[in-house]
Order: sequence, then C-alpha cells, then structure tokens
Amino acid sequence: MRTRDLERIRDGLLAERDRVQRIIARHAKAIQHADDQTGDGAGKAHSNHMADQGSDEIQYETMIHLAGAETDHLFDIEEALAKLENGTYGRCEEGDHAIAVERLMAVPTARLCIACQEKREKMSA
Ligand SMILES: [Zn+2]
Repeated sequence: MRTRDLERIRDGLLAERDRVQRIIARHAKAIQHADDQTGDGAGKAHSNHMADQGSDEIQYETMIHLAGAETDHLFDIEEALAKLENGTYGRCEEGDHAIAVERLMAVPTARLCIACQEKREKMSA
C-alpha cells in the first residue's frame, strides 16, 4: 500500500477516534447524571412519579447501549491504528490476503478482505 494512502487512512482514523471519544464522554456524563438522579435505588421507592420513572429508565438503557456500541467502535479504531504502527494494517485476519485499498478507504476498521467478509456473512445468514 502506498504511504500516501496509509497516511490518509491514519488521519481518518485519528479524526474518527476523536469524534467517538467525544461521543463516549458525552454519554458518560449523561449516564453519570442519570445515576445522580436515581441514586442507589433508594430514591426509586420514594418516587411519586412512576410514569416518569419508567421513561427515564428506557432512556438510561438506550444511553448505555449506545455507549457500548461506541466503545466497540473505538476499540476497532485503536486496533486499526495499532496495526498501522506495527505494519500489519491492511491484511485480512482470515488468511494471508490483502484487503483492497478502496475497501480500507471506505471502511478503515475492516478486518477481513471482501471475499472473507462475504463468506462470513453467508455463514451467519
Ligand atoms: Zn481474506
């Protein structure tokens, strides 16, 4: 792979990492805030607003779920950056295949070449 392509991908990954870290920080704050409001559970029993409590809880679950997805994504980004560092970036994890540059440009965190990705999708379908 050309150095220029790698640098472009690295820049993209660093920008994406920045964006995801900000999202996670925002979620963390929101979750912290929700924790403060509900306390250790003792507050729930004393709540006179059961209906409100319910919708709060759904929102809370959604926040945790979203934060989890972003954390997974951040992990993928970190791994891609580590591979860029140690020179293994762009290799398919299923075998000794190169991942197409166009694919990496579109999906910088791709772990599999297109052929292996399609095989895996067919197996899990
Ligand atoms: Zn492959």
